[in-house]
Amino acid sequence: MMINCILLFSQWEEISGLDENYTPIRTYQVCQVMEPNQNNWLRTNWIEKGDAQRIFVELKFTLRDCNSLPGVVGSCKETFNLYYQETDVEVGRNIRESQYVKIDTIAADESFTQGDLGERKMKLNTEVRIIGPLSRRGFYLAFQDVGACIALVSVKVYYKKCWSIIENLATFPDTVTGSEFSSLVEVEGTCVNDAEEEADNSPKMHCSAEGEWLVPIGKCICKAGFHQKGDACEPCGRGFYKSSSQDLQCSRCPAHSYNDREGSWRCDCEDGYYRALSDPPSVACTRPPSAPQNLLYNINHTTVSLEWTPPADTGGRNDVMYRIICRRCTWEPEECFPCGSNVGYLPQQSGLTDTYVTITDLLAHANYTFEVEAVNGVSDLSRTQRLFAAVSIATSQAAPSQVSEVIKERVQQHSIQLSWQEPEQPNGVITEYEIKYYEKDQKNRIYSTVKSKSTSATVNNLKPSTAYIFQIRAFTAAGYGTFGPRVEVTTKEESTGSVSFCSLCRHCGYSKADQEGDEELYFQCECQLSSAHYTHAHQWFKFPGTKTYIDPETYEDPNRAVHQFAKELDASCIKIERVIGAGEFGEVCSGRLKLPGKRDVSVAIKTLKVGYTEKQRRDFLCEASIMGQFDHPNVVHLEGVVTRGKPVMIVIEYMENGSLDAFLRKHDGQFTVIQLVGMLRGIAAGMRYLSDMGYVHRDLAARNILVNSNLVCKVSDFGLSRVIDDDPEAVYTTTGGKIPVRWTAMEAIQYRKFTSASDVWSYGILMWEVMSYGERPYWDMSNQDVIKAIEEGYRLPAPMDCPPGLHQLMLDCWQKDRADRPKFDQIVGILDKMIRNPNTLKTPMGTYFNSFRLVSEWLEAIKMERYVDSFTAAGYSSLESVARMTIEDVMSLGISLVGHQKKIMSSIQTMRAQMLHLHGTGVQV
Ligand code: AMP
Repeated sequence: MMINCILLFSQWEEISGLDENYTPIRTYQVCQVMEPNQNNWLRTNWIEKGDAQRIFVELKFTLRDCNSLPGVVGSCKETFNLYYQETDVEVGRNIRESQYVKIDTIAADESFTQGDLGERKMKLNTEVRIIGPLSRRGFYLAFQDVGACIALVSVKVYYKKCWSIIENLATFPDTVTGSEFSSLVEVEGTCVNDAEEEADNSPKMHCSAEGEWLVPIGKCICKAGFHQKGDACEPCGRGFYKSSSQDLQCSRCPAHSYNDREGSWRCDCEDGYYRALSDPPSVACTRPPSAPQNLLYNINHTTVSLEWTPPADTGGRNDVMYRIICRRCTWEPEECFPCGSNVGYLPQQSGLTDTYVTITDLLAHANYTFEVEAVNGVSDLSRTQRLFAAVSIATSQAAPSQVSEVIKERVQQHSIQLSWQEPEQPNGVITEYEIKYYEKDQKNRIYSTVKSKSTSATVNNLKPSTAYIFQIRAFTAAGYGTFGPRVEVTTKEESTGSVSFCSLCRHCGYSKADQEGDEELYFQCECQLSSAHYTHAHQWFKFPGTKTYIDPETYEDPNRAVHQFAKELDASCIKIERVIGAGEFGEVCSGRLKLPGKRDVSVAIKTLKVGYTEKQRRDFLCEASIMGQFDHPNVVHLEGVVTRGKPVMIVIEYMENGSLDAFLRKHDGQFTVIQLVGMLRGIAAGMRYLSDMGYVHRDLAARNILVNSNLVCKVSDFGLSRVIDDDPEAVYTTTGGKIPVRWTAMEAIQYRKFTSASDVWSYGILMWEVMSYGERPYWDMSNQDVIKAIEEGYRLPAPMDCPPGLHQLMLDCWQKDRADRPKFDQIVGILDKMIRNPNTLKTPMGTYFNSFRLVSEWLEAIKMERYVDSFTAAGYSSLESVARMTIEDVMSLGISLVGHQKKIMSSIQTMRAQMLHLHGTGVQV
């Protein structure tokens, strides 16, 4: 859109001139340097903002150096003011000065000293300012001159957006960036044609304030019958199929199947072949088996055993089973009928997996035919003829029927006497009974048998208090009948009572505990008191050597823990000066501590508010019991406690700069990389000490690091796990308990596995906070999305100007497998090495600015030295002026090859980024 200006009753003039390349331009000029009290306003036409919320204003102007104008002392100025005013409609000229909102006072980086405004020696300045968030439909820009000599050459107004892209098979539309520098706009993606959203994983991306897409989560996948090709889904070819969207590729049709259409999710079976209902589309089509082979039989009176071998053709399946069809046939005329339910089959009649069966309870002197059929999962689908093997058999005399009524006559410790009734159908003279028995709970049932000529028997040599199973069958000339039902009888108990007693035992032994993924040997003592069955909490003593952290919760009396680890101070030694913060249990104050015979020192004093409960007192002092065990320059030092007076106090060394996150935000961009790495090194050393002592912090984050006046960082905020509950960052997760999700390792979120290795993960996030000067990890993404993104392998990108080596270390801390993460000891080593070799901390772009002084050197380095003269002729004599060039500027030098334009622009952008970093400004040009 063209921006025109209205001269508001002022000294601004609209003048036609030539730019550095003699191209005609229109400028607005004012130069009332002789007169005092100038107030000249120039306003743009109304600019509709469209969807934009954050607007960039790029001004190009020249400004004359007051020193070069004789006789203007006092009245001449070298700045002008930029304002804006938001409105929903055009309001004509009726805006009062007071209604404008000031954006900034604009000064020139380069003023010029000689010649008049038309001359080529004037230096063009470019300044960019950002306005927003804007809420009305449009706005005006206004320029207030207060007595400078200015020519406004161009005003460019633009906003940034993320351009439409396809990612993970989802289309994301053009999206205008959010209103704040740190806000991400969450955008839902739409699946491309023939794709669908993965279950519970809809595609999302985030548009950053810089117009870059960040953090893709979720995805679309090609539907069944389609596969991914580039950013689209294409149908599977003929003879191929894809049965589910979960499959990646189309597959060739399995054996005995085909299809002749594109985009199929399955293949059809050839004639005579089938797919069982439970067969997935990926298996071959199959057919029923052929008949069983080599059928043999054996008759024992009224019992027939059949045996066969598997069919020659299983039909391509491995679920072949057998079924028996039994028919009884009359002699004259020969007619056959199904055998009915009186016949028994062992193990069963159908669904046989072994190649044998025993058929019992057949009638004596009868004719039978038996068919053995092989079936598989597709037999019932096939209409082809059944294939089976068959035999015809005649039975002889029947055996006696079952002995079913058994009575326990006498049960002793070592013997049982049983009696029974003769079977209902003896089918002859019973000459003997067989009693079979075994121990009920014995795994490999070993049978014993006893024979009896009468209907009673005593079984001896049994074990006392043991359950036995008995079964009885009768014997005639036709053979044995079948065994009757199982009867359970338990022998009597042994008469002598057993004596049990409890002993007082003490058990000591070695055990292993998992620290930082390493297994370390610990010596464990566990004492069991027999009377109360009270198990004293485990006390772990690291063995041998290093001091080990002792969980104060293991003390029955918390007061004892406090006094074991913290010095009791006399309240008269403490002078409270002022309140510096609010702690969870009461105010945090600063003051002084003067111990007898020592210099007084600055201290922070945490107080316990009045009206506390006993539990609050215990939790409050717990921090002191933990802190008092530590002695390291990077761990906040406990001076002592006051528990015998009121208020109850914890006295800690004073950390002048407060917590690290707020400190970094306050000093955004003000430290060198070496200073930041120095802070990180200190924190890592503190954590190495704590992990060596076996202490797992669980809430390591910049907000829980304190900074003193020498920029020394110290780990603080100690407590038991429940103290995390008071961290405002902690939220409830599905695994129970509150967790500061953005700082916490996956395994700790998922199954509360907190170790020094999960502290290393948090340390990586802390590194990211430090290198981005207190930016919120994962910006304004929701906790749910953070968890999802991390599970999908997303990791935070390098903060602006973060050396790649440091980002790599962060990524190492965020390894999924905790055993792959570095130990704190290694982290300290790596950071020390970086500090010793600052070259390793240079950002890749750092090299340009450091290596070159002259424009010609720079052009040589990027092999564009042929343009040295063009740059010089156009007045680009310093790298600073080059860094401000736009693509139009580069083109106006007569550089027409697109490849060269790109090369030069990309190098300029790199240079610019580095200058911004060095000057510590956050403005993007
Ligand atoms: P805390 O209860 O430990 O979170 O402390 C609350 C606030 O008090 C912190 O955010 C700090 O700003 C401040 N504070 C705590 N301890 C100290 C200390 N040792 N030196 C200076 N300020 C402290």
